[in-house]
Amino acid sequence: MSYQFNYQGKHHCPAAVLSCIDFRFWQTIVEYVHNELGIADFDFPSVPGSAKAINDGEPDGLAMSCVTIPLQLHEAKKIIIVNHADCGAYGGADKHESLDAEVEFHKQELLKAKAKILAKHPDAEVILLFAELIDNGRQIDILTIE
Ligand SMILES: [Zn+2]
Repeated sequence: MSYQFNYQGKHHCPAAVLSCIDFRFWQTIVEYVHNELGIADFDFPSVPGSAKAINDGEPDGLAMSCVTIPLQLHEAKKIIIVNHADCGAYGGADKHESLDAEVEFHKQELLKAKAKILAKHPDAEVILLFAELIDNGRQIDILTIE
């Protein structure tokens, strides 16, 4: 069995999407980036907690290399960081008093990660997204935080 490879001779992509490993969210995130942001090709590193891994990690640690390598090796210009609702890396949804409190918490985490990335890569365009659970956990809505 072999599979078609569409990138022969190509080694650059416009963006990297840093997301959590959570199996419940990543397919929707990929679909959103394709369909809503119109980005066909992107690196897709996944680390537990997404922004949390940047915030807790060493300045040159694994999570930051998930951003540095796309920017340097693949000449990506955009870094898209996606956090999500009910993230186990942060202790799950029960840790927050309300859905609004959960969104606000993740907003602060995403902003902190953005600042840390921009301190190291001032020319990167950093987009912050949050995958929210709505309709009693039956639907995902992707919020643009910044
Ligand atoms: Zn998660």
